Amino acid sequence: MAPRTKVEKRMDWDSGVKYTKDEFIEYYGQKKGAKAWNEADPTAWEPKAKVKAKAKAKSKTESKPRKDLKVCVCGGAGGIGQPLSLLMAMDPNCSELCVFDLSIAMVPPAGVAADLSHIEKKASVKGYVMEVGKNPIDYLEECLTGCNVVLVPAGVPRKPGQTRDDLFKINADIAKGIVEACAKFCPDAVLLLIVNPVNSIVPAMAELYKKKGLKPENIVGVTTLDCVRSNKFVGEITGKNPNFVRIPVIGGHAGATILPLFSQDKAGASIDKDKIPDLDKKVQDAGTQVVEAKGGKGSATLSMAYAGARMGSSVLAGLQGRRRTECAYVKSEITDLPYFTSKVVFGENGVAKVLDLGTLSEHETKRLEEVKTTLKGEIQTGLDYAEKNNLA
Ligand code: NAD
Repeated sequence: MAPRTKVEKRMDWDSGVKYTKDEFIEYYGQKKGAKAWNEADPTAWEPKAKVKAKAKAKSKTESKPRKDLKVCVCGGAGGIGQPLSLLMAMDPNCSELCVFDLSIAMVPPAGVAADLSHIEKKASVKGYVMEVGKNPIDYLEECLTGCNVVLVPAGVPRKPGQTRDDLFKINADIAKGIVEACAKFCPDAVLLLIVNPVNSIVPAMAELYKKKGLKPENIVGVTTLDCVRSNKFVGEITGKNPNFVRIPVIGGHAGATILPLFSQDKAGASIDKDKIPDLDKKVQDAGTQVVEAKGGKGSATLSMAYAGARMGSSVLAGLQGRRRTECAYVKSEITDLPYFTSKVVFGENGVAKVLDLGTLSEHETKRLEEVKTTLKGEIQTGLDYAEKNNLA
């Protein structure tokens, strides 16, 4: 038997996973892959002495130390909030984590914080609680001051029989209370809104921010779960490791407004064209599949927490000066709609660039029209709310 040759692997700083150079190139593309490979941590492979010498040399030349970044999870004791808080506490870029929730939450936020504060990671964790019916702006000064990223899974999940408009009325008021407090105590923070219906809540909150003289770009709708699901499903069909599949999902974040661009990924593009409409629908209906499997006792919480944390970590990496690209629902000029999900580059000040849609297949071009028609009405719901309301 031929002797096995050792293939060098390097550790991706952000995921902590080791990859070969070929895998880096496959994942990031030829140019970026080679750069990422050079930036990756060679300790995964090199002998310790060499690594130590390199680390010493690097520390001498390193000009930018890591910033201490503060994160808050609003609704942090809920179904999504708890695992999301756990994952954010594990992020090496998170130095301080605040867990905020109501006194009626299933666990007191102070309990979630105490639990997480024992994890052997650098983040210090603190809980903040508020009575129902009170105003976050009167209670969150300490919690939000200095925050760089605020994740918002606070809100009520949709109950069977409830219309999207009913849900919007309840959750928009919850989001407004939190956004108002952020506008006062951490106006430069990136707000990652998970609360549904994202398609209407994000335009509502971004326009309220604009009215207040703040950057509407700092209000970002988290749609990452659609990408995560698309990558997973494509991985299952093609036999590819989903970690190396990157399907951009554009449009919005509900039903027919979710448009996965399978044609823009190597593995996705290899799927038989006849199978694409069903796969597209499978991504759109994935949330319902979880609701049904949970028998009415909740919606996607664990996969949502994973997706929210991927987004949160990308924004934190960007703030540290390591630019990241994620699909997100933001104020946009790339189509004729004022809010749209597309690839967004996150950098040192949050949203750095909203990227174009790229080339679409015939199926995707047709679907884009359907997306726009539905999304337009949902955006209008948000704009109407912003017109009738103001932030304190
Ligand atoms: P949950 O009921 O388990 O948790 C929500 C938490 O928010 C609770 O702990 C509750 O006490 C808290 N909360 C309510 N009002 C609050 C307020 N004013 N201030 C602070 N905290 C408050 O629900 P969940 O399953 O975690 O879902 C939360 C939200 O996320 C829902 O709106 C749901 O529709 C949405 N969601 C979004 C996605 C997505 O992909 N963007 C996916 C799944 C769920």
